[in-house]
Amino acid sequence: MALRPDEFYDHAVAAADGERRLPLARMTGWDISPFDPDGLRVAPLRPPVLPEPPRHGEDPSDCDACRARDDGIWFNDRWRLTRITGMGVPLVLMLHPREHYDLADLPDELAAELGVLSTHIARHVQGLPHIARAHVYRVGDGAAHLHLWFFARPEGQTQLRGTWMPVWDDLLPEYPAAVAEADAAIVADALVASVGGRRSAGG
Ligand SMILES: [Zn+2]
Repeated sequence: MALRPDEFYDHAVAAADGERRLPLARMTGWDISPFDPDGLRVAPLRPPVLPEPPRHGEDPSDCDACRARDDGIWFNDRWRLTRITGMGVPLVLMLHPREHYDLADLPDELAAELGVLSTHIARHVQGLPHIARAHVYRVGDGAAHLHLWFFARPEGQTQLRGTWMPVWDDLLPEYPAAVAEADAAIVADALVASVGGRRSAGG
């Protein structure tokens, strides 16, 4: 059984200094870290918050993703794909079920389709010129309605390899929107060709 919240906090704080700051370790020491360890320090570790604050859309009647069920660049009857604007990496796409599900309550039929769609989206993103990899993330701490992130890593930018890429994305200047939009359309068209669906919400 996992540690209780207070046990976990005590366990972590035991490794911290008098201000409850953990030492810089592991990822900050990687040569792909976006931060120079000199002058960098870890924020004090805050105690657990219980009960946790609700995520956006815990109540489906007040869920932005449900209201946006017809927004996107690709659709079938159960899923839609959107492009996230204002990002630093070349392309960020998001896959959402059109009905209100989180990952753990996705019916098996949709779960199976999620696997196929994720694979095809990653394949088509990686098929774009000058894109080395599609990273796929599901975090789920911000919103209750399932959403999968696809981040395209720019070719040759090996410092963006790995776990730090979303942080690098935040640090980079905004990628040219017209280029990202055109590449998103290529991925959406390729998805129609490879798994079906359509470019408009339809019925
Ligand atoms: Zn929803």
